[in-house]
Amino acid sequence: MVDVKKLKELLKDEPSYRITQAERAIYKDFVSDWSQVTTLPLPLRERLQSELPLDISAELLISSKKDTLKAVITLKDGFSIESVLMRHADKKRSKTGGGSTSTNKEIYKCTNEDKDKIKQEAVQKFRNTVCESSQIGCPLSCLFCTTGKLEFKRNLTADEIVDQVLFFSRYLKEEGASVNNVVFMGMGEPFLNYDNVMSAVRILNDKNKFNIGARHISISTCGIPERIYDFAKEGLQVNLAISLNAPNDEIRSRLMPINKRYPIGELLKTVKFYIEKTNRRVMFEYVMVQDLNDAPSHAKELARLVKGLLCFVNLIPCNASPYNFLCHKGNWDIVYYKGNRNYQACLTDDKWGVTENVKSVEGRSSSSKNGSIKKSKNFESINLDNLLKPSTRKRISEFKKILSESGITVTERFRFGVDIRGACGELVYRFKKG
Ligand code: SF4
Repeated sequence: MVDVKKLKELLKDEPSYRITQAERAIYKDFVSDWSQVTTLPLPLRERLQSELPLDISAELLISSKKDTLKAVITLKDGFSIESVLMRHADKKRSKTGGGSTSTNKEIYKCTNEDKDKIKQEAVQKFRNTVCESSQIGCPLSCLFCTTGKLEFKRNLTADEIVDQVLFFSRYLKEEGASVNNVVFMGMGEPFLNYDNVMSAVRILNDKNKFNIGARHISISTCGIPERIYDFAKEGLQVNLAISLNAPNDEIRSRLMPINKRYPIGELLKTVKFYIEKTNRRVMFEYVMVQDLNDAPSHAKELARLVKGLLCFVNLIPCNASPYNFLCHKGNWDIVYYKGNRNYQACLTDDKWGVTENVKSVEGRSSSSKNGSIKKSKNFESINLDNLLKPSTRKRISEFKKILSESGITVTERFRFGVDIRGACGELVYRFKKG
């Protein structure tokens, strides 16, 4: 891990340009070993290598389509976080590059030098986006999110946040590519770790470090109004995304407990302030859960809610994680998998409780094998088929159409890395269970 404070301490008696050289090696040349930094004298390299090694301890999973790489990074204190690299085909760049078949033919005909150039161009047809975590676990417990099932441990330091981009920058360097975009949409609520996230953003944006344009950095928040006000005043061109997910307080509070503290009206008031102050377009993220927030009436309600704002809506099919269960009998009682041996019930009146043991569920699914289901007194039985489900394609299309016809710009998020449990928190959750 890179510890900038320690680096400065170690170099405090060296000429001031040494820190510039060292930082350049870390953040521009992406070295993972001080022995590669030949601009530094050998004794200093050796000292840094022994006192401040640059290794980042991580386990890497790659999706079958090779478009998603997920790193489970182990931190100094033994906690794990996730970070994801998503590789999108870059349409603008692809236009000039031609299709893959013709490129392959060209490689066959060309000299070695040409081949290298073509390979390089092929690499440049991808936009490489890193999805960053900002906390270990998350205290906000959104229903659709596996990270929300992990116990919150602590905020990440700015160095730990930056290391996630550094890890993938080193990986991409091998093929002559680099990280183009950063999104704070991984584990944790970035605005509950505001100062460290903003410090990390400044390092990522620094021309002498990663040099990632502010417009290529996005922060997604569940909506902490105080911090949205602060963010509006930062004078940065960084994008703001609001995880909205519901057209009204009733549904949003069920999906996101934070809504009880900061209801939609208050949230939108701060979003309006942000837009007026920055004149920047806001993205509203909307996780679509079958039969919960995906009806045509919800689309109409959502359109009325955001109409007139400088914004667009991004629809995201909910992740069907085996760790998220939704059960209800008339009312919205929710049950989810918690740990290896039991289930917990979250009641609509906000009281958490687990009552009696109902039955063993051996063999129903790998995640529930050897577990036991416990139930809240508010419902009679638990139907494991009632997993939190993504909306169907038809439902998403209808929803999208209604929003578009109401004059709302709407996009749909492509799902990455389903085969490697690409959703936020799933790997750490799984690893934690063992
Ligand atoms: S969606 Fe974000 S804020 Fe909500 S529980 Fe997950 S990580 Fe936390």
